[in-house]
Amino acid sequence: MNEAKQREAMCEIGASIFARGLTAGSSGNISLRIEEGWLMTPTGSSLGRLDPARLSKLDRDGRLVAGDPPTKESFLHRVMYEERPASGAVVHVHSTHSVAVSCLAEIDPEDVLPPITAYYVMRVGRLPLVPYFRPGDLALAEAVRGFADKHHAVLLANHGPVVAGADLDSAVNAIEELEETAKLYLLLRGAKTRYLTAVQVRELRE
Ligand SMILES: [Zn+2]
Repeated sequence: MNEAKQREAMCEIGASIFARGLTAGSSGNISLRIEEGWLMTPTGSSLGRLDPARLSKLDRDGRLVAGDPPTKESFLHRVMYEERPASGAVVHVHSTHSVAVSCLAEIDPEDVLPPITAYYVMRVGRLPLVPYFRPGDLALAEAVRGFADKHHAVLLANHGPVVAGADLDSAVNAIEELEETAKLYLLLRGAKTRYLTAVQVRELRE
């Protein structure tokens, strides 16, 4: 895919995420690895109205070389790429159900959601909770770094998920699977539930 096509793909996926209510207002950001570095959503932009020509273009050292300044959460993307060099894309949203789950006192911070479906186990796997930091605190980047080498998906407490993938589609599919599973978890809360068994989970991981 050439850069023009990659820019279009990013804006199309952003519009689709926004239209389906997976992130509101100017929240959420996307980045995509390109030959010369990265494309990233600009600061203050809405995923619903991205302009392919104004996307932030960063060189391999993370310096802005074209377009608008990148999202203030660009450090979340940077640590994921640094710790997971095979990643081709990173997506971060403030999706309602995942954020709701990230606020619950009952969740296991080492593995936030139970294995409700096979797709969740395959696309997301074990999801750690990253402790809360105020917006813009670079300590958040270091906290994410602590999990990123072992996990392509993390959930920021009282904030939202960050997911890396081999390409844009797999990152977006995984973050959607996470959001749907968070919704299912909230729907099933309080009901006697049969989650997948340890044996079934192991079979999927193999
Ligand atoms: Zn955020």
